[in-house]
Amino acid sequence: MSISEQEIQDMVQNVLQNMSKGENPTINKTETKPKKLMGIFENIEDAIAAAKAAQKEIQPMPLEFREKIIVNIRKKTLENAKLFAELGVKETGMGNIGHKILKHQLVAEKTPGTEDLTTIAWSGDRGLTLIEQGPYGVIGAVCPSTNPTETVICNSIGMLAAGNSVVFAPHPSAKNVSNLAIDMVNRASTEVGGPQNLVVAVEEPAMEVSKIIFGHKDISLLVATGGPGVVTSVLSSGKRAMGAGAGNPPVLVDETANIPKAAEDIVNGATFDNNLPCIAEKEVVAVKSIADELMYYMEQAGCYHANEEEVANLISAVFIEKNGKKMLNRQCVGRSAKMLLNKIGVTVGDEIRCIIFKGEKTHPLIAEELMMPILGIVEVRDIDEGIEVSVELEQGNRHSAHMHSTNVNNLTKFGKAIDTAIFVKNGPSYAALGFGGEGYATFTIASRTGEGLTSAKNFTKSRRCVMCDALSIR
Ligand code: NAD
Repeated sequence: MSISEQEIQDMVQNVLQNMSKGENPTINKTETKPKKLMGIFENIEDAIAAAKAAQKEIQPMPLEFREKIIVNIRKKTLENAKLFAELGVKETGMGNIGHKILKHQLVAEKTPGTEDLTTIAWSGDRGLTLIEQGPYGVIGAVCPSTNPTETVICNSIGMLAAGNSVVFAPHPSAKNVSNLAIDMVNRASTEVGGPQNLVVAVEEPAMEVSKIIFGHKDISLLVATGGPGVVTSVLSSGKRAMGAGAGNPPVLVDETANIPKAAEDIVNGATFDNNLPCIAEKEVVAVKSIADELMYYMEQAGCYHANEEEVANLISAVFIEKNGKKMLNRQCVGRSAKMLLNKIGVTVGDEIRCIIFKGEKTHPLIAEELMMPILGIVEVRDIDEGIEVSVELEQGNRHSAHMHSTNVNNLTKFGKAIDTAIFVKNGPSYAALGFGGEGYATFTIASRTGEGLTSAKNFTKSRRCVMCDALSIR
């Protein structure tokens, strides 16, 4: 049975209303209770069993059919981009609605589907051998609060294209909107005659639920998109796991760069969705001879140059102590520059989109991954010191780094030294996601385990298929 677009819109309006009343849309017990979300279970064991059954249904279906489901997921994502953006910002308090709409459009249009799966063949006197890419089965996928629905939808497209079903573990602080995206993916399947429960989750995601997923016999691959804690957890699970972990991407600017353009690109990249993407510029390393010029143009591009006292106040606002440990204040993560400045008593207009200051490489607002539009600028003597400092600031995450330069030797030297999954040259960081750059999109960048920008082929097992002494017609 398929549900009409109008019914989905009604349900979503219901969700929005309930969220504004502070009610959980999935467990609201009042008269206005929305329809049950498809693929969302009370109990994790039931969710996993349903995903296992759905995978058994989808595996024998032709690739063409998987593609039909994916086409519908893309269509529905485009139709609901604004809604997911609004709900995401509302539920998490983080990010920028306009940018989140763009991120959903990017996921819908540039996440690879079944075309990503390829075959390797050997043909000769002894027959024909193929390496085919087959599904793992049921995948357990942990999603972050920073790109909640973007990750659910992007992973769904890639993982389903590869023939898997997925048990998601959304971030608890983004559970409502994430579960709504899971519902949308299942409806996209059932509308074209596919199974329901291709992707599932529970009403109340929690660490204990994730632990069950990580140890469950019916889950054969784990994919963690998040901070160091969850990546370490999945890598210690004893299962095959992919870790798409944290970064602290430096952007290096040398004296040969087009400085006004570099300034504009850096500010555009660092302010995209309020600096939430893990690939976004998190600090600037600039050669001394152009550092002031760069900062001048960054101010022209909408940056507020904070003075020493304001920077000290920002440190107090951005970090909190919990159990004797310095932690990021979640009330500051993904907030706009205007809002952050407001927290320290500085009032600015909407034209201000980023905060800049000069600092040492050990400065807490530079050395930590903040996910806020705050950019510290570290001055260095020359390109060699710039490379050394940037490598140090990247902290061995091997995630992302960026550079502005017209010197091919400097670009090459930095690329080799930093050794990251992503290295954008002369553009904003989001070019790496295919947004203003060539290539496909993903929101799961497996930096720690080496797959890099993941797509359907990464969610497959390699299978050698051998026909002896026949089918070679050479
Ligand atoms: P987070 O680590 O707080 O949470 C991510 C997910 O992991 C959530 O679902 C959370 O519930 C779960 N989780 C956290 N610790 C866990 C543990 N010990 N065991 C089991 N589950 C656990 O991250 P966040 O704040 O939502 O997202 C931001 C972080 O994720 C940043 O560090 C960012 O760089 C990183 N990130 C990386 C990528 C990538 O593709 N490499 C993409 C997005 C975000």
